[in-house]
Amino acid sequence: MLVKENQTKENKVAIDTNNIKLVQKSSYDSLLKGNAEWVERRLKDDPEYFKTLAKGQSPEVLWIGCSDSRVPANEVTGTKPGEVFVHRNIANVCVHSDMNMLSVLDYAVNVLKVKHVIVAGHYGCGGVAAAMSHKQFGLIDNWLRNIKDVYRLHSHELDRITDEPAKLNRLVELNVIEQVYNLCKTTIVQNAWGNGQNLEVHGWVIDLGTGLVKDLKVSSTGAQNLGYMYELNDAPVAAH
Ligand SMILES: [Zn+2]
Repeated sequence: MLVKENQTKENKVAIDTNNIKLVQKSSYDSLLKGNAEWVERRLKDDPEYFKTLAKGQSPEVLWIGCSDSRVPANEVTGTKPGEVFVHRNIANVCVHSDMNMLSVLDYAVNVLKVKHVIVAGHYGCGGVAAAMSHKQFGLIDNWLRNIKDVYRLHSHELDRITDEPAKLNRLVELNVIEQVYNLCKTTIVQNAWGNGQNLEVHGWVIDLGTGLVKDLKVSSTGAQNLGYMYELNDAPVAAH
């Protein structure tokens, strides 16, 4: 009787634990369920969909966006898998010493031969807001320092904005513009232009309140507007 009670008790504990695990796993499990449903929908539309997708990619666009969960490149642009090559980090920063970003950019420009590179920020960006504050958040402070530099470059304009949300949104725009500028300064982009490659670098901001993209009209197609210190006119053709 005692053994039976213990077994019952253990069983109860085991069941309770499973229930807890089930609750904890629910968002995880929904991903797998969502994947299975997505595969089913794709195959219903086109039985050859994944066979075609597996053959390779030839995207014409590189998207450099924020890691924020609300701004997925394909959803925002109504594009399908295979159409946009994507790199994302906190606050869509393009740092000239970031091997991750440079590797993605080099592969996109020199191997995939994308025609457009888009830096896509978004209003209300938490990373930009954190950079605008004077709080410490840990390791990320070193990354956000790049955005503080953007503020310093444009402090004459930003310091005059007294409405904090408006100031944040303007810094979001200026951050995108400076990151476009940073991409254009790289040897990767300048050599592509020097070689006559058709490549445009654009700056966008997504409005989370409407879903709409604002084109900041800073599209660059050549090194002529970089400023003489950054122009690499005699860059060797083969160097990247
Ligand atoms: Zn963000």
